[in-house]
Amino acid sequence: MQPVNRMTAAAASRAAWRRPPARRVRAIRDRLRLVYGVPAARPHGHPIAELVLTVLSQSTNDRNRDVAYLALRERFESWDAVRDAPVGEIEEAIRPGGISKIKSARIKAILQALPETAAGEPTLDWLPEVSVPDAQRYLCSLPGVGRKTAACVLLFALGMRDVPVDTHVSRVGARLALFRPGAGFDELHDTMLALTPPGEELELHLNLLRHGRRTCYARRPNCRGCALQRMCPSAAIYR
Ligand code: SF4
Repeated sequence: MQPVNRMTAAAASRAAWRRPPARRVRAIRDRLRLVYGVPAARPHGHPIAELVLTVLSQSTNDRNRDVAYLALRERFESWDAVRDAPVGEIEEAIRPGGISKIKSARIKAILQALPETAAGEPTLDWLPEVSVPDAQRYLCSLPGVGRKTAACVLLFALGMRDVPVDTHVSRVGARLALFRPGAGFDELHDTMLALTPPGEELELHLNLLRHGRRTCYARRPNCRGCALQRMCPSAAIYR
């Protein structure tokens, strides 16, 4: 009987979930702002760089990702040089980032799929001229690119309205009941975007991520030391 009971409880919790009201999201934002401040980073304006960086970040830490990215940029003078290089050369350059066979093939396939400038350079500089849903659809049509990668490109590189939901943001958001239990990846992104006050995409993403890294750990969240304790329905479970 136990598995059935568990399934029933999970289904009940999914059915009971309601999207949190805007005032609750603002209250969470305010508490996180008190702890972590308001991030000041501006969009850096290099969407292909962000796209490649996000591919390199898969299954590795930030340091190895950055080492692989710098090695790639040092070895090839332009993105069309990367696109036209034998995949083995790309693989060799990005080896410090791990699973370089898969990542090199993906980077090359993505660059080959991008439109070119008159000078033959792959380009994404046109993205700000289309709507956010069109930009998301286009990016997600590229080989191996999903909603999180698309959101990183749109937000970090171009300052467009999208919010990446990575492992930390999804864990903290789920514990705070911001997301419907069992929601898939696309739904998590749609919900996060709907919940985020316009203009605060970067702040909410970065502060939830920081909170996941510094307090709301995956295994043993530090609920007693958490600034969100009073407004978190999961605090009673983990304390
Ligand atoms: S109270 Fe606990 S579970 Fe809730 S956000 Fe804080 S650390 Fe995470």
